[in-house]
Amino acid sequence: MEPPRLTFAERLYLPQVMQGIRVTTGHFVRNLALHTLHLFGLAKDRRAAVTVQYPEERKTYSEGFRGAHRLTLKPDGSVRCTACFLCATACPAKCINIEAGEHPDPEVEKYPVRYEIDTLQCIYCGMCVEACPCDAIRMDTFVHPRVWGYRREDFIEPKTLLMERSLVLQERGREALMEDMLRDYEAGQSTGPAVR
Ligand code: SF4
Ligand code: SF4
Repeated sequence: MEPPRLTFAERLYLPQVMQGIRVTTGHFVRNLALHTLHLFGLAKDRRAAVTVQYPEERKTYSEGFRGAHRLTLKPDGSVRCTACFLCATACPAKCINIEAGEHPDPEVEKYPVRYEIDTLQCIYCGMCVEACPCDAIRMDTFVHPRVWGYRREDFIEPKTLLMERSLVLQERGREALMEDMLRDYEAGQSTGPAVR
């Protein structure tokens, strides 16, 4: 069957183009007006944009949200990881880099001198968590992956950061992790490229 033929007006696409311009201009004018009013402290109860302004704003995450890694700690605060490399072997993105070292305690065989996750390569599949035999890595932080940075290195999460997350979670709770991340984000905004 032959497809329906477009009329001359339809082939010009002008009505659709005009409709698109009308919608875009409508949103632009509305947002501009609301942002201007907000500057003067007016109409604060009306949103000036329809999208969620992450990271300043967050939606409620589901209990299954797995956004960022952390290395769990022993009761004495040292890292639980034994540098067995199972997580790095299981990682399909090959984004975990571990350097093992001899532990000063003869009871402990090895520990990670360096443990890094390249979050630009990570696909957040959770295989590392599944593979770990000693519950040394988790993704239950409820924090998003880092969304700002100017250099590749800004997105490589080192051992200290991964351990710090566990400490903050333990001492100040889940919301504190997000508050710290927001603080870092704001500092990065005001000082330019963030350094970690
Ligand atoms: S979540 Fe998946 S991709 Fe990311 S580090 Fe773990 S195993 Fe690798
Ligand atoms: S996080 Fe777990 S699986 Fe990965 S090296 Fe450490 S102990 Fe092994």
